[in-house]
Amino acid sequence: MDNHSTNFATKCVHSGMNENEHHAVIPPIYQTSTFSFESAKHGASLFAGEQSGYIYTRMANPTVQAMEEAVAALEGGYKALGCASGMAAIHTVFASLLKAGDHVICSTAVYGPTVTLLQTIMKKFGVETSFVDTTDAHFVSEAFKPNTTLVFVETPGNPTLAISDLQEISKIAHAKGALVVVDNTFMSPALQKPFDFGVDVVLHSMTKFLNGHSDVVGGIVIAKDKDTYTKMRKTLNQTGGVIDPFNSFLVHRGIKTLQIRIERHCTNAQTIAEFLENHPAVKWVRYPGLKSHPQYEIGLKQHSGSGGMVTFELKGGFEAGETLINNVKLCKLAVSLGGVESLIQHPASMTHFSMGKEARAAGGIGEGLIRLSVGIEAVEDIISDLEHALELVSHVEEKELTPAEV
Ligand SMILES: *Cc1c(COP(=O)(O)O)cnc(C)c1O
Repeated sequence: MDNHSTNFATKCVHSGMNENEHHAVIPPIYQTSTFSFESAKHGASLFAGEQSGYIYTRMANPTVQAMEEAVAALEGGYKALGCASGMAAIHTVFASLLKAGDHVICSTAVYGPTVTLLQTIMKKFGVETSFVDTTDAHFVSEAFKPNTTLVFVETPGNPTLAISDLQEISKIAHAKGALVVVDNTFMSPALQKPFDFGVDVVLHSMTKFLNGHSDVVGGIVIAKDKDTYTKMRKTLNQTGGVIDPFNSFLVHRGIKTLQIRIERHCTNAQTIAEFLENHPAVKWVRYPGLKSHPQYEIGLKQHSGSGGMVTFELKGGFEAGETLINNVKLCKLAVSLGGVESLIQHPASMTHFSMGKEARAAGGIGEGLIRLSVGIEAVEDIISDLEHALELVSHVEEKELTPAEV
């Protein structure tokens, strides 16, 4: 099935349907930690890898494997590794492909904990990282050192939705003998397939669009070739950050509707981005589907739709942000993204509150910055929710504070 169908929507529904003894249409949940052997000889041959079969769920489980096959098919990779979370997936990649003395180039606009992982744990083990604006491939080229072995790109990046040219970056990295790893969480394989642009490893937080229903934390790494896969599978077996059978089942179930969910996320987000761009309380809007996006042209080359994430800055600063999020009713005030429901986040009063105003400004996080994960509700309901809350928001530009006031 998987190899014969080239249509993505069909792959979403049918990929990773492993055989089972009762011909169940949906792969059963093998909620077991371990599998019995027929004899000492059978056990020995499984451990020696002479015969295929299951031993222990940390090593492999049929329900997990069915989901892994589905995601590998959607990304067009060799095989995938189901992980306990997106961060477990990122850690599996770093722990497998990096060693003490290596240097990493990482996009500046990435998921926050990715930065922390590189700056704390990976640093402790002797890996050095340069954070680079990867939207300009020249900056990537200039950041290379003799010991650079890995380039980590998130595109569109969090929270600014900055877009990086995967083909250009892959060309530069491969010429210098480095691997390219892409966090494809924001687009999902329905809209962007990094392997088509030469990327070596793709990963996702499946917590987001792949599962799509905000009821699972999970991650996945997809390898392009057998060697990289084998290396990473060994790490995952040893470090143990695997996804469990039930969460795998839920993600696999979510994937069946990925294509139709994404279509609605895209059309809703485009309509909302255009609405916001014309609203007097809004200073600017970032959405890959708007011509005003600084990397709009790069986006056209590498993704087939613009996704469900919209970021915008309110003219009224911090207070305007607070007013907006306190007055929306349909949009839920929450972090995370990619679910069927719309979620809204104000970094200055939520995720980035504790870092303080000056540090936020230095990191490019505006006081009136809002991140919206557009759900699949009727778009007019989301717009009327935002419209009502925006009426209460000041349309006045936030006054620049003098140094004494700061
Ligand atoms: C959420 C997220 C992660 C981390 O995933 P978890 O499942 O929360 O561990 C990594 N990258 C991106 C882009 C994300 O949005």
